Amino acid sequence: MQNLRNIPKIDKFIQSKEFENLNGSLILKLSKTVINQKRERILSGNDTLIDEKELVQQVLKRYYETVSCGTKPLINATGVIVHTNLGRSPIDKEIFNRAKELVCGYSNLEYNLLTALRGERYEEINRLFKILFDIEDVLVVNNNAAAVFLILNTFAKEKEVVVSRGELVEIGGSFRIPEVMRESGAILREVGTTNKTNIGDYENAINEKSSILMKVHKSNFTIEGFSQSVEFKDIHSLAQKNGLIDYFDLGSGHIGNLPYNLSHNEPEIEKILKEKPSLISFSGDKLFGSVQAGIIFGKKELIAKLKKNQLLRMLRVDKVTLALLEESVKAYIMEDYDKITTKRLLHTETKELRARAENMASKIGDNVCEVIDTFTYVGGGTMPNKKIPSIALKFSLSPTFLERAFRECLVIGRVENEAFLLDFRSIDKDEDEKLLEIIRRVLRCFE
Ligand SMILES: *Cc1c(COP(=O)(O)O)cnc(C)c1O
Repeated sequence: MQNLRNIPKIDKFIQSKEFENLNGSLILKLSKTVINQKRERILSGNDTLIDEKELVQQVLKRYYETVSCGTKPLINATGVIVHTNLGRSPIDKEIFNRAKELVCGYSNLEYNLLTALRGERYEEINRLFKILFDIEDVLVVNNNAAAVFLILNTFAKEKEVVVSRGELVEIGGSFRIPEVMRESGAILREVGTTNKTNIGDYENAINEKSSILMKVHKSNFTIEGFSQSVEFKDIHSLAQKNGLIDYFDLGSGHIGNLPYNLSHNEPEIEKILKEKPSLISFSGDKLFGSVQAGIIFGKKELIAKLKKNQLLRMLRVDKVTLALLEESVKAYIMEDYDKITTKRLLHTETKELRARAENMASKIGDNVCEVIDTFTYVGGGTMPNKKIPSIALKFSLSPTFLERAFRECLVIGRVENEAFLLDFRSIDKDEDEKLLEIIRRVLRCFE
C-alpha cells in the first residue's frame, strides 16, 4: 500500500511541462485513464514501481495516437483514376468551394421559397439534370447499390426480375446483384448462360409474375471469345410490348467523349436515354466524377412510386451530397469538364504527363529514377481489360522498401516488374510540388 501514496496527484501531473501547448481536456482525460490503470495494477499486485516520467510518456503516446486518428488525405500514384480503396472520385477544389455555402449554413433544402410551404428535397437537382438531359424525372439516393435495392423493392417485391446469367456481377466483394435482389424481396429469374443470352431467353421467361426486365452493366469483368448479350434497346422494346418495366443498371455511366477508344466499353448516359428507358441508375462517383450517390432517371410515374417507398427515408441523401452533386451537374451544363477531376485526369495528354515527370526527375537526379511509358486502368469497376497509356517515374532502389517508405509518407504507388513506380495518370498537377518534397524526403533515407 506504501506505493499508492506515490501515485501522482492528477492536478499536479497535468501541469508537467511536457504537456505545455497541448489540448488540456484531452491531456486530463488521458492522464486520468493512465493513472487509474497504474493504480489498479498496483492494487492487484501486478506492479509496484511508480515512475512519473514513464506515465507522462504513456499519456503523450496516447495523445499523439488520438490526434493522428482519422482518414488521411494522400497522393494516389497508383495510376488508377477511380480507385475505390482511395476514395473514388476526387472533388475539384472549386466545386467544393461553390458547394460550401450550402453546407455551412441553412438552405431551402425542403422549403419552397415561392409559397413559404414545405418543399421537395429533389426539386433543384431535378431542374439541373433536366437541363443536362432529356429526362422525365430524377431521384438521388445514397449510392448506386441503394438505387438498385430501392427499385427492386418498389417494383419487384415478390415478383420476378429477369436478368441474364452473364450479368449477375459481384462488385468490389460486397455488392452482389443476386444477393441485393434477394434482400430486396425480388425473385431472381436468371436466363441464358454465362457467356450467351439472346432476346428469346428473356421472352420465354416472361410470365404473370414478371415485373422488371433488367440489364446490368458487366462492370468489372469481360467475357472474351464466344459470347453474346442482348442490347438494352431490345430489352426495352420487349418490356414495353409486355407492359413491364425495363431497367438498366449502368454501373458507372459517363457523359461526353472518353479518350483512348474507351467509349464503347462504357454506356454513355445520353445515348441510353434516347431509348426512353423506364428506369436507369448509375454511381455519382465513378466516371461521372462527383460525390458518392446513386442517380436514378426514369418515367415520372415510376419515380413517383419510388418516392412513396418508406425506404427512401433511409436511403435519401443529405445536403452535403446534394450541394456537391448540384455543382458537378452545373459544371457539366457549362461544359466546364476541367472541373470534373476524374475527367480531367483521364483526358490529360501523355505528353503533358511526360513533361511533368521529366521535370521532377531532373530535380531528383536521374541516377535513382527514370521516366517511362506505361499503362494503367481507369478503375472503379469500369473497363477491366482496357489499358490506357500513362507515364511513370521508375525507381532503381528496392521496391519493397520504397513502397513502404512512400506509403508511410501517404503516397501510394505501385510495384511492377520488380520496380517501384509513381504513375502520373492519377496525380493532379497541383500535387506535384508536394510529391517532389516527399520523394526527396524518402530518398534521403538512402543516403
Ligand atoms: C459499381 C456498381 C454498383 C454499385 O454502385 P455504388 O455506387 O458503388 O453503390 C452497382 N451496379 C453496377 C453495375 C456497378 O458497376
